[in-house]
Amino acid sequence: MGANKTIGFVPTMGALHSGHLSLIEQSKSECDYTVCSIFVNPTQFNNAEDFEKYPITTELDLKLLKEVGCDAVFLPTVEEMYSNNEKVEHFDFSPFDVSMEGSYRPGHFDGVGTIVGKLFETIEPDISFFGEKDFQQLKVIEKLVEIKNYSTKIVGCPIVREADGLAMSSRNKRLSDEHRKKAVFIYQVLKNAKKQAISHNVSEIKNWVIDAFSHEEEFELDYFEIASELDLQPTSSLNSEAKPRAFIAAYLGGVRLIDNLALNG
Ligand code: AMP
Repeated sequence: MGANKTIGFVPTMGALHSGHLSLIEQSKSECDYTVCSIFVNPTQFNNAEDFEKYPITTELDLKLLKEVGCDAVFLPTVEEMYSNNEKVEHFDFSPFDVSMEGSYRPGHFDGVGTIVGKLFETIEPDISFFGEKDFQQLKVIEKLVEIKNYSTKIVGCPIVREADGLAMSSRNKRLSDEHRKKAVFIYQVLKNAKKQAISHNVSEIKNWVIDAFSHEEEFELDYFEIASELDLQPTSSLNSEAKPRAFIAAYLGGVRLIDNLALNG
């Protein structure tokens, strides 16, 4: 954008909540204009049911974006973003895409890289804002910018939580009332892991988490990992220089929830 005006960009998949709106607020505070995109990107879903059931609340989203003072919304169709027979691009985001979401959701980060690249090339933002809720995605996007030499700066923003501590997520809308109450268990486990990190080693903490989930019949743990923020590889070091962070992915009533917490925060 000319005349020294800056564009801030917040890519989303819609079903907006206060976590998304915090990114819009951050962009507004740092940039002259803020653009939000809403696009449920089919190529990043490795599970057809998850894609089909992804919540869509476009009317409400537009109302919220207007209220918060977002300057422009980009709402493309699948046909606009993917022409006929177009494939996803394959990226080498290593080491950031090797563990956790990278191994549990094959192809996911190629889909994310493909769509975010297209969005960066369309919007040409000066600064783009991503939530630490998807901490691994944030690191993958930083690597995407490096690989493709995009000129946008990437800013990571803190996780916004519900009053009970559950990380806000569009997928929370799919939880039954009963499961919604139980979902906070994920955050409680992370907080407990952080407490244990003072006096226990990584394998003791992991064993405790696996045991805690084994008593919660309605949850199905995908993974609990302690990884260094520096490379997102599993670490056995809980020293602050290793920047250890705990990551969880778990199913509750068929809904996949993820969360993370810095252990030396
Ligand atoms: P999504 O619509 O889930 O693709 O998320 C769009 C952006 O919002 C991503 O950068 C997410 O990391 C971010 N985001 C989602 N939930 C939260 C949250 N609870 N707190 C902060 N950022 C979030």
